[in-house]
Amino acid sequence: MAKQQLVITQLYPSQMNIYGDNGNAQIIRRRAELYGYQTKTMAYNSYDDIDALTQADLILGGGGQDSGQRAILKDLQRIRPTLLSLAEGKVPMLMICGLYQLFGHYFTTRDGDKLDGIGLFDMVTVGGDRRLIGNAVVDSEEFGELIGYENHSGITTLGDNQASLGQVIQGYGNDGHGVDEGAVRYAAVGTYLHGPVLSKNPRLADWLIMRAVERKFGKTKLTPADETTRAELAKLDRFIDRARTVAKSRPQ
Ligand code: GLN
Repeated sequence: MAKQQLVITQLYPSQMNIYGDNGNAQIIRRRAELYGYQTKTMAYNSYDDIDALTQADLILGGGGQDSGQRAILKDLQRIRPTLLSLAEGKVPMLMICGLYQLFGHYFTTRDGDKLDGIGLFDMVTVGGDRRLIGNAVVDSEEFGELIGYENHSGITTLGDNQASLGQVIQGYGNDGHGVDEGAVRYAAVGTYLHGPVLSKNPRLADWLIMRAVERKFGKTKLTPADETTRAELAKLDRFIDRARTVAKSRPQ
């Protein structure tokens, strides 16, 4: 029987990729394959054919400097209705830092430039005077302890009814005060955590894959494809555990 295929689309990988955020696609790809799915990775850059989005089973976007965010802005407004309808249709998405900010209503840079977002997350971001840099740990009800690295000047304020991804244990989080971090709506997750974040947070990676296979194939569980891949996943998990322990022991 032919393997079922998942299409993973990277959003603006040319401009929005810092601290290895594009690596999230490789991690999703590898894990999905170990669970027995075939994968196809597509890139959507400015003015590309919209098919890379409409065919996507999972969409990933990374962080970027203010200049990168400015560069994609016009196109982002062009594809805004498509992204919103995919999000409403529960296509799983993971947006990091720069794209996380632009999935809110707007990001005003330190220079006073107002960059309009797509408004999927009910939140606004304003560039501050200091950069919020360091190793971060977040406690999330759904995903356990999330570990990553943050570097942003933007201060994000969530609307009253906007769910966060979790509570900050170590780090600055959305608003710089170490309270909440990230945002979740439908099956879309936004976070300031780089890393690439999925390298140290397999629960989040598997949740995204699960949402995709549930939506596309009606599956309710992820299981290793066979004994070899089961052993491979267990080995991978041991490495990840070690990486998490080392990352967690680092000072902020
Ligand atoms: N340019 C944005 C900020 O500084 C996002 C940075 C990032 O993606 N790491 O807040």
